[in-house]
Amino acid sequence: MALKDIQSLRELAEMSIKVGSRVDYTQGGGGNTSVKLDNGYMAIKASGTRLSQMTENKGFAVVQVSDLKDVTADFGYDPLRPSVEASFHVLLKKFVCHTHPVYANIPLCSIEGTARIIKIMKEIDASYLILPYINPGKELADYMKKGLTEAIPQAVIPDHEEEFDYTDEDSNRRPIAVFMQNHGLVVSADTAEKCLEIHEKINELIAMEYGIKEGDFDAFAKDAAKTLYPDQQVYMSLGDVQQEIFAAVSFIHHVIINNNETIRGMDDSAMDFIGNWESEAYRKTVLS
Ligand SMILES: [Zn+2]
Repeated sequence: MALKDIQSLRELAEMSIKVGSRVDYTQGGGGNTSVKLDNGYMAIKASGTRLSQMTENKGFAVVQVSDLKDVTADFGYDPLRPSVEASFHVLLKKFVCHTHPVYANIPLCSIEGTARIIKIMKEIDASYLILPYINPGKELADYMKKGLTEAIPQAVIPDHEEEFDYTDEDSNRRPIAVFMQNHGLVVSADTAEKCLEIHEKINELIAMEYGIKEGDFDAFAKDAAKTLYPDQQVYMSLGDVQQEIFAAVSFIHHVIINNNETIRGMDDSAMDFIGNWESEAYRKTVLS
C-alpha cells in the first residue's frame, strides 16, 4: 500500500521543520503536528522524534482517523509509534500544529493569564478554547471533545456564532486554536500555511501583551546556558534537551514575575500521572 497524498505529507514536513527548528516553540522532542490525508488516514509526528527531523518519508506515523489504528508499517514506513496526542488531532481541522511555545505558555502557566488570552484573541477573528490542565492522552482528547460539542464549566468558550461540532464535515465549526493550561498551544487550519500564520500571530500577540519580543528568548537562553558558580556544574550539569527545557522554564518564570503575575504549577496528581506514564518513558528513550 502507498499513501497517495504526498503533497500533504510534504507540507506537513515543511510546517514541522519550521516550528520544530525554533527552541522557543518546542523543546526536546516536544510538540507534534499532523495532517489528515485522503481515504480517512492521518499522518502524525512519531512519539519522541524531533519535529525538525521530519521529512515526507520519515518521522511520522500513520493512523486511521476513525479508530486511531496504527497502520504505519502497512504503508512501508518505519514502524514508529504515533504521538500520544493523536487522539485530539483527529478532532481538529486538516492541519494541526501543537507546540509548547515559551510565549503562549506564559499566560498558560500564570494564574492571571486567562484574561490576557481572551484579550489578545479579540484581535484574531476565530473561535478557540481554553482548557484547564488535563492528563495528556485519552483524558485530554475526551475533554477536548466535550469542549468541542458542549459547554464545559472549566473551559472558556468565548462567544462564537455556532457551537463547535467536530463531527461536522464543515471544518469551520472546529476551533482554530486550543490553549491548554500548563501545557501548550494547538492551532489547526485547512492549510499548513494558515496554520503557521495563526501560530506565529498568536505567539507574537502574547509576547507583545507581556512587553517582550519573540527575539528576547534567544538572548535569554544564551545567558541561561552559562554556569554561574561551581555548585551548578557539580549538581546540575544538563544535557542538550534539559538545557532547552531549563531555558524555556526560566524564561516563562521570568516574564510572569516581571509582569507581577502569579506562577501556576502542575498539581501533585498531574505530576504523578506523567511520572508513571509509560508513554513518556518511551518518548524519553527514543529521543536520547
Ligand atoms: Zn503537548
